[in-house]
Amino acid sequence: MTPTYVFWDIDGTLIRTGGAGLRAWDRAIAEVLGRSDGLAGIDTSGVSDAEIAVAACRAAGADEAGAAPRLLRALERLLPGELRASGGRVLPNVRENLEALSGRDDVVNMLLTGNLAATGRFKLESFDLWGFFDAGGAFSVEGTDRAGIARRARELAGRHAGRTLVGEQMVVIGDTPHDIACGKAIGARTVAVATGRVHTLADLQRGEPWRAFAALPDPVRLCATLGLD
Ligand SMILES: [Mg+2]
Repeated sequence: MTPTYVFWDIDGTLIRTGGAGLRAWDRAIAEVLGRSDGLAGIDTSGVSDAEIAVAACRAAGADEAGAAPRLLRALERLLPGELRASGGRVLPNVRENLEALSGRDDVVNMLLTGNLAATGRFKLESFDLWGFFDAGGAFSVEGTDRAGIARRARELAGRHAGRTLVGEQMVVIGDTPHDIACGKAIGARTVAVATGRVHTLADLQRGEPWRAFAALPDPVRLCATLGLD
């Protein structure tokens, strides 16, 4: 039997970083683009790091082909220090669910995130969650939007399963309308959790996810929701 592949978003879904990500962006923008207004006016919630870099370059009138890659490298270098200095945390029920699901042979946990691979890994290692994602996942790569990252996740999961995955064999769990939209783009069931920095439960429900919760349910309820006995 093909297992259920659960694709997890990181920020606002697994962890909160206490603003470390935004502070690292502000510093990267100051360093590379010489601007002190950071991400003011730029939508960052649920948007991939590669897309944020392009938007920041456009806002600064900078050549994005040259400056966006430099911004992303600066972000990778600056994020660890900011994360160490912040009061980040693992969100409620996350560790319990990852432990419960990783103990099952009918579920595979993977990542589907707008983080760069290096920063996503660093964040999860910092909170001792990286070990739950042996099966890997899809991260932000220059030139891809959130839907492109979702297609990459489906491809990686299909390779892991040894067959093409369809519809309800995949579940996307995330905290923004972008997570819901990218999950729908690959035909996955979408579970929205209102534990992020920006979006309320009502915001998320407007995107018509498959299921929506104020916070991640406990393992018994999440398994029941996903139809896992
Ligand atoms: Mg998120």
